[in-house]
This record gives sequence, C-alpha cells and structure tokens, in this order.
Amino acid sequence: MAVPRTYHVVTLGCPKNDVDSEHLERLLTGGELLPVLQPEGADAIIVNTCGFIEQSQEQSMEAVRELSRNKREGQTLIVAGCMTQLYGRQVKEENPAIDHVFGVGQWQDVARLLSVDVDAIHDIPESNVKVSGPSAYLKISDGCDAPCTFCVIPKIKGGLRSAPAGMLVKEAQRLAAAGAKELVLVGQDTTAWGEDLRMPVGSGLPGLLEMVSEAVPGAWLRLMYAYPSRVSPQLIETMARLANVIPYLDVPLQHGSEAVLRRMKRPSNLDNVLRSIEDLRSAMPEIVLRTSFIAGFPGETEAEFKELLDFARAIRFDHAGCFTYSRQQWTGAFEMDAQVPDEVKFERRDRFMRQQRKIAAKQARRFVGRELDFLVEGTGEDEDGAPVIAGRTYREAPEVDGLVIARGMATMGKRVRVRIDEAADYDLFATVVR
Ligand code: SF4
Repeated sequence: MAVPRTYHVVTLGCPKNDVDSEHLERLLTGGELLPVLQPEGADAIIVNTCGFIEQSQEQSMEAVRELSRNKREGQTLIVAGCMTQLYGRQVKEENPAIDHVFGVGQWQDVARLLSVDVDAIHDIPESNVKVSGPSAYLKISDGCDAPCTFCVIPKIKGGLRSAPAGMLVKEAQRLAAAGAKELVLVGQDTTAWGEDLRMPVGSGLPGLLEMVSEAVPGAWLRLMYAYPSRVSPQLIETMARLANVIPYLDVPLQHGSEAVLRRMKRPSNLDNVLRSIEDLRSAMPEIVLRTSFIAGFPGETEAEFKELLDFARAIRFDHAGCFTYSRQQWTGAFEMDAQVPDEVKFERRDRFMRQQRKIAAKQARRFVGRELDFLVEGTGEDEDGAPVIAGRTYREAPEVDGLVIARGMATMGKRVRVRIDEAADYDLFATVVR
C-alpha cells in the first residue's frame, strides 16, 4: 500500500459513533493526512459501521457494498466499528474489495495502518478539533455492564470504561474554544460514569458535571442516555443547581409493564421511576423529558402493551421514540419463546406513535409565548424570500427531537433569543427577538 495522503470517513449509527469517527479524524489529521469530502478523491476510505439492530446493520452493509463497488485502483477500503466487531468475517467474505477489517476501539490501529505515528501525537492541536454547528458530543464512557436481554451492546463494546475526568474537562474546553455552544454528554449509560473508576454507585456523574460545568461555564451541558435507577437525588440536585446544565433529560425506559421489564432484565419497579420523574419535575419545573420504548419484546401481550401506553400517558414525555424489538444473536432474548410477529410489532409501534403525537403536541404548547435561547443550525429564506433560521432551544436535542424554525436573521453557529409563536406536533415556530 502506497503511503496515503488523503482520507474519507463514512460514519453510520449513533452519536457515539460520530465521536469515535472524530477521534479517528483527529489522529489522521494529526498524522498530516488530509480529509476529502467525497470518497472518490480519497486514498483511504474508512467506514465506521453500526451493529445495534438489524436495520442499522443493513444500512451499514449497504454503505459498504456501495463503496466496494465504486472502489478504484490504489484506494484502501477499511471497515471498522460495531458491525465488524460482530460479523467481520462475513462482511469481508461478502465484499472482497475490502482491504482491512477492524472491530470497535481500534482507531489507533487504523491510524497506524495508514502510516500515522500515533505515539508522536501527544496532544491534539485546537485547529484539529471539529465542531460543526453549535453543538458537539462529549463521549464520557463506552461499553456497558448492564444485563438488558434485548441489547447486544455489551457484546460489541465490552464492559463500562469511563474516560478520566481530567481528559473530559480538557476535551470540553477544546470543544468550547472551537465554538461549541452546547456539549451533549453521551455514553451507553451516562449515569454509570465513574463506577469502573471505583466511585460509589451513582455518585460519579454529579461530580463530573460539577467539573465540566465549571470548566465551560458558557456552554450548555445536555445529558443523554440516563439509566432509570441511577437518576439519583444527587444527580437531580446537581442538575437543578448548575446553571449551564440544561433542564433536559433522556431516560430510555424501554417498557411500561413490570413483567416485560423483568424479562428485559431492566429496573422494573415503576413506582420508583414515577418518583424520580416527580422529583425531576419538582426540582426543575421546566424540565423536558425524552425516552424510548420497545414494542413487541418476546412474550409481550396486548395487555402488557396497553400498560406501556398507560404508563407513557401518565408521564407525558415531551419526546418519546418507539422501536420495534429486533432479535439479536448473542442476547438473552434471542432464544426466548413467543417471539412477537412483525405485523403485531409494527401495529403496536404505530399505535404508540399516534398516542405520543398528541402528548408531544400538548407538551409543546406550554412553550408558546415564551422567550428562549436558540442555537442557530441553519439559515435560509421562506417562500416569500424573508429570512428564517432553523435550530434548537434547550427543548430539542440534536438529531432526535425536531427543530425550531424562527423568522429573522442570525449567524450560523451562534446563540440568539427567540419568542415561540406556535407549536406543531414535533416542531416549534418562533420569531427572533435579539
Ligand atoms: S443499559 Fe443500554 S447499552 Fe447497556 S445493556 Fe442496557 S440497553 Fe444496552
């Protein structure tokens, strides 16, 4: 292989994969390779795949097939990440044009293969820190120790590994210096942060929030992927006290039936969940809550699914997603009896989304008339040629929660103030006030 001078990274899957790809890109640019926008122009193409559920594996496979088909003479095609961690051999057999296959967490090996002297890159220059738009992801941990029977992540990623606090503080400062107005804290379970560093259960994340908040007082800190039983009183008190930790929490609950939750090996005491939600709302009356559920887990009866609907109605989530259960090899639920037929799963998912649409619309209406800070993600014009901007308030997490469209002008990447005029089911409409 000739020494590559240019590269192109294709990232599939979740925000955690975006963070991994950024890490790889920093190694590559630190090694003086140049990024190019199109795969055709790159000496090396690296695909960071996703293997979470069947649908994401298929998307990753499709991307790999296309790149294999279009690969030109002299190009190096590398496939890495979650899907190849599980199915590396099959992926390579199906696509002989692939030159190298890696699993997860092997970014240094990928960089070394491309002739980067990884050991010489001790610190990443600020100019290499990539922030596109006003937000950036801060991945605080990887892997997971939880026993959820539907989830293949522990098999793909291994056990919990928390990034050291000092490194995260430095990374947060770099991202803020590069223009990030919002840092979105991600990990498979952010609330487990620190447990592998021998911190007492549930106490690690509040301490980390204190440190990061103090290091980047001007940036919003948004918490994703909290584990229900780890939303502790300390965490709630810390979130409420720190001004730049925004009142927003994503707590994937997965189901609303205790029997199903027990089969999922998830926290199954719903009274405790309801109490945590009440505590969050009384400490932060403005809090916005997101969750996700799974419809059609093995053995799910119509009565159990109705419990899910009742539970979601009782909590009134601002944002809620519902996935259909995807049967994964190497998980506890794979061999369970009574797999639910696809048409039943999809019908239940649709029924959930119809209910949630009404709840979300009602929840959104409480924002009408209020003035909020707004992060500008795009600028343009409406059909009459008047300027409009698109972006998000604290109410919307990037990529998952919809957008706010505001009349008026502002600069991309900046924070402005808007007044909310109107609420649609998922998006809000507003006017720039300053
Ligand atoms: S906590 Fe999340 S990542 Fe960990 S096993 Fe459960 S669903 Fe998977």
